[in-house]
Amino acid sequence: MSECMTFTSQMEQALEEARAAEKRGEVPVGAVVVSPDGKVVSAAGNRVREWCDPSAHAEIVAIREACRILGSERLAGHDLYVTLEPCPMCASAISQARIARVYYGAADPKSGGVAQGPRVFSHPQSHHVPEVYDGIGAVESERLLKAFFARMR
Ligand SMILES: [Zn+2]
Repeated sequence: MSECMTFTSQMEQALEEARAAEKRGEVPVGAVVVSPDGKVVSAAGNRVREWCDPSAHAEIVAIREACRILGSERLAGHDLYVTLEPCPMCASAISQARIARVYYGAADPKSGGVAQGPRVFSHPQSHHVPEVYDGIGAVESERLLKAFFARMR
């Protein structure tokens, strides 16, 4: 599989997780952790309502699962694909987990913490700064979120 195809299919898997989260009544956000050799280690969607847990964002759930599987509190060399710009809490967890690269879809002007708000990775207290690539699969990610919030009203 070419680099480009891998890249697309991994964000597609994160979008699948977002769609599954939406079916559970969650905000449609999905995340996938990928190992240095390109294998999906974990994939998750939001579980905030189901678990009554404000920290159960897709990124946190996927990182926890990957750490459990690997038996390590760090995911050095791993990549994270997430359909929405991580919030400050998730950005901080990504940094703590030493994730190498973050690929995200839609920007989140309301709650994002990477390109706006506290800009966690640009902060001097961020001890580990991943490479960040935005706008990957953003159109589909935004469509899911807009449809979800339109139904909420
Ligand atoms: Zn978050």
